[in-house]
Amino acid sequence: MIKTDCHLHSTFSTDGHSDMESEINHAIELGLDTICFTEHNDYGTNADGSFVVDIRAYHDKLYQLKEKYSGRIEVLFGIEAGFQPTDHIYDYFKGYLKAWDFDFIIGSSHVVKNKDPYFPVFFDDYADDDAAYRAYFEEELENARMYENYDSYGHLDYILRYGKTRNKYFTYEKFADVLDPLLKTLISHGKCIEVNSAGFRKDMGNPNPHIDIVKRYHELGGLPPTVGSDAHACEDMAADFDKAAQVLFEAGYDSYSIFKGRRRYELKLKTSC
Ligand SMILES: [Zn+2]
Ligand SMILES: [Zn+2]
Repeated sequence: MIKTDCHLHSTFSTDGHSDMESEINHAIELGLDTICFTEHNDYGTNADGSFVVDIRAYHDKLYQLKEKYSGRIEVLFGIEAGFQPTDHIYDYFKGYLKAWDFDFIIGSSHVVKNKDPYFPVFFDDYADDDAAYRAYFEEELENARMYENYDSYGHLDYILRYGKTRNKYFTYEKFADVLDPLLKTLISHGKCIEVNSAGFRKDMGNPNPHIDIVKRYHELGGLPPTVGSDAHACEDMAADFDKAAQVLFEAGYDSYSIFKGRRRYELKLKTSC
């Protein structure tokens, strides 16, 4: 049973719907031991400054609530950094990620060439979904080669949520020429991947990434993944963690990773299996 949720957004994120204290209370009701907030910082993506957390306000509120709920639940300070293979964004994160005492840093790709696949017009630039997916994975490979200071790569096939065909025709083999170097780069840099359970509630029948990516990461010697719901509201916290645990088992893992103070710890999955 997974009793930690290490990918959470509150109203400190532009798209968050529940405030931090409500989420902490909900986590206690769910019986979770540890939660890590990972608010968005997608610096350089939106000219209006959205999706860049007010880090000082976030930090101060989190530490206030961490103290208040101490002994009832462990609350960790994380960030989801939106990586792009651009020098000025790299330089920005190099300073930023060192400047704050994060417990856990997720590196994520939310855009390709600074365009967001969340908007259907994004796909007009590509012949088909596969071409767009390939461009996304290629940019993740660039990020994996460029960035060093993070712990886990978030939702590695995030773009599959948005294609017209979603993950219906996804196969690992189709993209192995870019996914293999991507996974090998992450492994050689000692990085986890994340099993993000949001894919289940988006009716993909899989977490993000697809189980075949998790299996291959394991086969290549990857560390136990981190696990998060990517909830933006109380009702999605720890959602489908039983299914996420099953995916980890099927991929060959009996444990998962969490980070505190940037140190990795392994916890047993311990589900009925
Ligand atoms: Zn994300
Ligand atoms: Zn997220």
